[in-house]
Amino acid sequence: MSFKYVLYFLLFYSHFFDFLLKLLTRGRKDHPCIILLYHRILDDHSEYLNKGSVVHHPIKHFKKGIPYLRGNYQILGMDEVVHHMRMDIGFEKPSLAITFDDGYLDNYTLAYPVLKKYGVVATLYLTTGLIGTSERSWTDRIELSFLKTKEDSFSLPAIFGNHKVQIKTKKEKEQANIKVSEALKLMPDGERKKLMRELFEVLKLDGNGLENQTSRLMLNWDEVQKMAKDGILIGSHSHTHPILSQMPLQDAKEEIFNSKKIIEDNLGMKVKHFAFPNGREEDFSEELRGYCREIGFESVASVAYGLNDAEKNNTLSLKRIGAIAPVWMLAGDLLLRLVKYYLAKPSVPLS
Ligand SMILES: [Zn+2]
Repeated sequence: MSFKYVLYFLLFYSHFFDFLLKLLTRGRKDHPCIILLYHRILDDHSEYLNKGSVVHHPIKHFKKGIPYLRGNYQILGMDEVVHHMRMDIGFEKPSLAITFDDGYLDNYTLAYPVLKKYGVVATLYLTTGLIGTSERSWTDRIELSFLKTKEDSFSLPAIFGNHKVQIKTKKEKEQANIKVSEALKLMPDGERKKLMRELFEVLKLDGNGLENQTSRLMLNWDEVQKMAKDGILIGSHSHTHPILSQMPLQDAKEEIFNSKKIIEDNLGMKVKHFAFPNGREEDFSEELRGYCREIGFESVASVAYGLNDAEKNNTLSLKRIGAIAPVWMLAGDLLLRLVKYYLAKPSVPLS
C-alpha cells in the first residue's frame, strides 16, 4: 500500500476532496468536461487477466464510483457535451461524461443496472463486427489463451528472444499477456496473425476452438437495443478495431462507415459519436476526422488523456481519461487534474 493510496483514502473519507472541489469551482463559470473511459466491468465470476482499472474495472469500485461522480459533477451524455461545446454554452459546472469502449456484455449485465439505479447516462462505443457474435478481439483472444493454457512456460523468440517465459502464477500470466499484446499491437496485420498462431501452438491450444471453451464476452443487439431505449447512447468504435491510420485510407473509411450504418440499421437512430480504436493521436488522422464529420459524426474521442475545454470547441478531437479505482484514487486523480486546469486558466467572473 503506497503513501499516496493511504493519503487519498483519508482525504476522500474526511470529505476534504469535496471541500476542495467546491472551493476551486466557487465563483467560476468556465469549467472543463472530463470524459471518463471504461472497458470491462467485472465481478467474482469474471474470467480475466488484470490490465488495470481502465480495462478491467471491478463492479464493487464502479458501485462506489458512480454515486460519487454523480454527487460531485454534472454528468452529461455525449449529445449534451457536443451541444454545450458547439452552442458556446460552456460547462457551467465541472462536467463529466461516462464512456465505455468495445461493447462488452458486462456493460449490460453489471454496469447498466448501476447507471440505471443512479439515473446516470453513459455512451457505449461498439466494435460492430463483434456484437452478437461469440468472437472476441485479438487482444482478448490472447488473454483467453493464457487463461486456458495448461503450460507452465513458453518460448516466443520473435518477442522474447531466447528467454523462456514462466506462466505458472496468475501474476506471471498477467505480465506475459500485457507484454505479448503490446508487442503485437505494433505489428502489421499479417505478421500479428502469424505470431498468434505460433502462440496458440506453443501454449498447446486450438486457436479456432478457443472461444467454445468459454461464455460470450461481447453484447448482442437485443441488449444494445434495450439500453438504447433506456437512454444509453450508442456510438461507433469501427467494425473490426484496426489501427485506422495504418491501413489504406479507403479501407479505414469503410471501417468507419460500415460500423455507423450497422448500428443505425439495428437501432433505427442516428449514430453521432465515434471513438477511434487504440486511441493514440497517431492511430488516427486529420483526413479521417474530416471524413467522420462528412458522414454525420458530431464527435470523435481519443484516448489522449486530458480535460476538454468548452472554449476550444473541438468536438472532433475530444480527450478522455482512464477510470482508475478505488473511488478515492479516482476522486483524487480527477481533482488533481482540475487543480492544474483551473490554475492554468484565469477565472472568468460570474456575470
Ligand atoms: Zn477499443
